[in-house]
Amino acid sequence: MDRIYDAHTHWLGPEDLETRKNQKVFSLVCAKTSAQYDSLTGCLHSHPALLPWVQVTAGLHPWHSLEEPVEKMLDLFPMVKVIGEIGMDSVWCRIDLHLQRQVFIRQLERAAELNKPVILHTKGQEAEIASILRSCPNRYLVHWYSCDLWFEQYEKMDCWFSIGPDVLWNKTTQSLARQIRSDRLLIETDGMNAVEWADRKGGIHATGEAEAQPRETLLRSLSCCAAQRQQDPEELAEQVQENLRAFLQSKD
Ligand SMILES: [Zn+2]
Repeated sequence: MDRIYDAHTHWLGPEDLETRKNQKVFSLVCAKTSAQYDSLTGCLHSHPALLPWVQVTAGLHPWHSLEEPVEKMLDLFPMVKVIGEIGMDSVWCRIDLHLQRQVFIRQLERAAELNKPVILHTKGQEAEIASILRSCPNRYLVHWYSCDLWFEQYEKMDCWFSIGPDVLWNKTTQSLARQIRSDRLLIETDGMNAVEWADRKGGIHATGEAEAQPRETLLRSLSCCAAQRQQDPEELAEQVQENLRAFLQSKD
């Protein structure tokens, strides 16, 4: 069994990481508050066998902008290789956008100073975020982009894009899967609870009694993307691996 790559998931506890290790899924695991960072890194410290399968990412998520001072998260930035997910959200979040913007920009600027790549959450704020990024060049991964507009603006800035689990049925995601440049395409689950949400929304039922699994979810997304792009799924899997390495700028 070859290793496969999840460009964005969340810290959901040690069992989820254990499953990912057993299924050979290398995952960028997001801590969206400093408390989550402590619990994720604590788990990795006591289970070192998980380490080769996890890349910790950390950033104060827009939904949690009010939960703690951004400085607490900024203090953790030197310890992680990837920042995020960070961004703004006017669809699923009612926190004042002015405050979200401040929290986002503080983290964005610090990430650029540290030359660390960033995972972006752009829901409903796609145009605004594209214009903010123009003055802060860096490596950006736009996670689960789900907007019919502004794609070209992110493309012009050379962003990476990760395709979410709704590529099975969502026309917007499918259209993106066709348009994204081959050296910028990634695949993500956004965590298994997001996969369950997307499956419910799309009327997709897991076969048998089995719950959706990370590896199976990533493989089915890969094969849907490959079909959209009229490409061989294995070739696409290799390309995705290359693309993630380039985003992380790692050689292994
Ligand atoms: Zn996420």
